[in-house]
Amino acid sequence: MMRILLVGHGKMGRMVESLAAEYDCEIAGVIDPQSPRHGGGADAERWTDIDVAVDFTSPDAVMANAPLLARRGMNLVVGTTGWREHERALREVIDAAGVGIVVAPNFSTGVVVFEALVARAARLFAAHPDFGAFVHEAHHAAKKDAPSGTALLLKRAMEEAGFPRTIDVSATRAGFIPGTHTVGFDGPAETITLSHTARDRTAFARGALTAARWVHKKRGWYTMHDVLGVAGG
Ligand code: NAP
Repeated sequence: MMRILLVGHGKMGRMVESLAAEYDCEIAGVIDPQSPRHGGGADAERWTDIDVAVDFTSPDAVMANAPLLARRGMNLVVGTTGWREHERALREVIDAAGVGIVVAPNFSTGVVVFEALVARAARLFAAHPDFGAFVHEAHHAAKKDAPSGTALLLKRAMEEAGFPRTIDVSATRAGFIPGTHTVGFDGPAETITLSHTARDRTAFARGALTAARWVHKKRGWYTMHDVLGVAGG
């Protein structure tokens, strides 16, 4: 059994907990002051024998907890979004600590493949200057960051694929929408849209557990492309 420390015991953390056994993982502890299972902060002495810490919290919490856990020798899986402005600082910590990390704004297999399709489309449309492009995403009203980390990831994939024009990014927050991302290319007389819809959130939790098993005993900075062996774009 691999021993997992859950950082964040909200909707995603609890889902990872409920699926962990299927992945031969046991939840060795929880860090979340709001949770009845809270076992102490990232510096608590009891966190020994942890294989991987899985973080689904908030952007501030990532930067508070992840460096402490990495310095204690724990590998990490970070699903929290909205903290990428601190990526350089966290990369330095991970490197210095000599641990492994998987970061992914979206852990679902479908989105990893979708990103590769979107990058291919962006490369094809790059050569047609009368086509503009957009990314639109919709999520439940409680999602804190907007636009989503996945929307930003898709935009970056399109830019890296060589799409040279403005990519308009917009977000909707309403009700209980589990997550929809649409990428569009619009020309003078036609529109092409590619979209991915998450039907339920178990795809994310399963992806996070797959990533936790994969990163166990590895060193370095990885994404779900590495975990799933999907080449970007
Ligand atoms: P959530 O239900 O609000 O859960 C987050 C939990 O983390 C809450 O219980 C929160 O407590 C707790 N927390 C806040 N600060 C903390 C700290 N310093 N230490 C420990 N725990 C802390 O949110 P969620 O739906 O699970 O989503 C969490 C994050 O994952 C979001 O950034 C979301 O965008 C992201 N997400 C990523 C994926 C993916 O595939 N990568 C999929 C779904 C969601 P409070 O209630 O007190 O703030």
